[in-house]
Amino acid sequence: MSWQQRIDTALTERRHADTFRHRLPVSHGAGRWLVQGERRWLNFSSNDYLGLSQHPQIVAAWQQGAERYGTGSGGSGHVTGYSEAHQQFEQELAQWLGYPRALLFISGFAANQAVIAALMHKDDRIVADKLSHASLLEAASHSPAQLRRFAHNDSSQLASLLAKPIEGLQLAVTEGIFSMDGDSAPLAGIAAVTRQANGWLLVDDAHGVGVSGDNGRGSCAAQGVHPELLVVTFGKAFGLSGAAVLCSDPVADYLLQFARHLIYSTSMPPAQAVALSQALAIIRSEEGESRRQTLRRHIARFRQGAEQLSLQLTASNSAIQPLIVGENSRALRLAESLREQGCWLTAIRPPTVPAGTARLRVTLTAAHQPQDIDQLLEVLDAARR
Ligand SMILES: *Cc1c(COP(=O)(O)O)cnc(C)c1O
Repeated sequence: MSWQQRIDTALTERRHADTFRHRLPVSHGAGRWLVQGERRWLNFSSNDYLGLSQHPQIVAAWQQGAERYGTGSGGSGHVTGYSEAHQQFEQELAQWLGYPRALLFISGFAANQAVIAALMHKDDRIVADKLSHASLLEAASHSPAQLRRFAHNDSSQLASLLAKPIEGLQLAVTEGIFSMDGDSAPLAGIAAVTRQANGWLLVDDAHGVGVSGDNGRGSCAAQGVHPELLVVTFGKAFGLSGAAVLCSDPVADYLLQFARHLIYSTSMPPAQAVALSQALAIIRSEEGESRRQTLRRHIARFRQGAEQLSLQLTASNSAIQPLIVGENSRALRLAESLREQGCWLTAIRPPTVPAGTARLRVTLTAAHQPQDIDQLLEVLDAARR
C-alpha cells in the first residue's frame, strides 16, 4: 500500500461511517453565543463553564502581562522560560488545592502524557477507568507499563485488577468528572482500594476544577480525597488554556528531571500565567461562588425540563449533560436541526464514545440565561418529532 492509498482509505472509511470530522472557523466560540460572521447561535458546546473566557478583568490581566513580559516566554522553563509570573501562579494554585507543589504544562493533553511517560517503567501496571480521556489512555498505551482498564466507575473491578501479582508499581487513573458522560467518579472508593494495593492514584479533574467542590476546588475536595497526582486544566472553567500537575515536593522535583514535555518544550507565555492568576482569584471569590450557583441552577432547570420531555439523560450533576441518541447519522441529523433552530450542539460520535452511543453533548455555562435553557428544551422537543 502506498502513502496515498493509506490516507485515502482511512478518509473513505471515516466518511462512510459518518465519523468524518470538520472544523468550523468561528468569530466567537466560547460563552453564551457561538458567532460566525453575521450569524449566531446559543452555544451549548463550549467548556467555558463559568463564562470566564471573556471576563474583562482576565482580558486586562493578559494585556498587562504582555506589556510587562512581552508575548512569548522565550524558552523551556529549564532554560529561561520560567518567569516570576509562572512561579507565582504555581504557588497560588498549590496553596488553593492543598498541595506542596504545582507544575504548569502547556495543555492537559501534554500534562497527562508527560506524567505517565515519566513515571511508568516496564514492570509496572496502569489500571485506568475505561472511559478515561484519550490523553490518559493514549499515554498509558504508549508507555512500557501494562495497561488494564476497569469498567466505568467500578472500584471493585479496579481492586481485583490491582490485586493481580505484579513486579513493579501500580498507578490507578481516573477522572473527577467524565468528559463525555458528565458523571462523577466514586473517588473515595477508588482511593481506598488503590491505597490498599500500595498503588498511587492520578485524578484528572479537567471538568471539576473551578466548578465543583467547596470554593471550586474540584471533585477531589468535594469527595474528601487527596490523590498523589492531581491534574487540572485551564481550558474549561478557567476560560484560558494550559494545565497543572499537583503533587508532593519530591514528585515535582522528579517531574522536573524526567518529564520531557517540560524540558523540551517552550513554557506558556508569562502573560498567560498572569491571566491565570486573575482567573483563579475570580474563581475563589464571591463572584466565582455566584457563577457556580448560576450554573447549578441552569443544570437543575435543564434536567427537570428534559425529564418532563422523557429525554434520555445520563447520571450527571455536572455542566456536561449528554443526550444519548445511538446512531451516528441520527445524532448528526438532530444536531443539524437544532442548529437550524438557533441552538449549537455537537454530535459526539465514536471513536470518542463507544459505538452505538452517539450523543448530543449539551454543556451549560454560567454565561447562559434561564430562557436559553428553556429555548434549548423547546427545540429539542421539536427536533425529535
Ligand atoms: C480537556 C481534557 C483534557 C485535555 O486538556 P487540554 O488542556 O485541553 O489539552 C485532559 N483530560 C480531560 C479529562 C479533559 O476533559
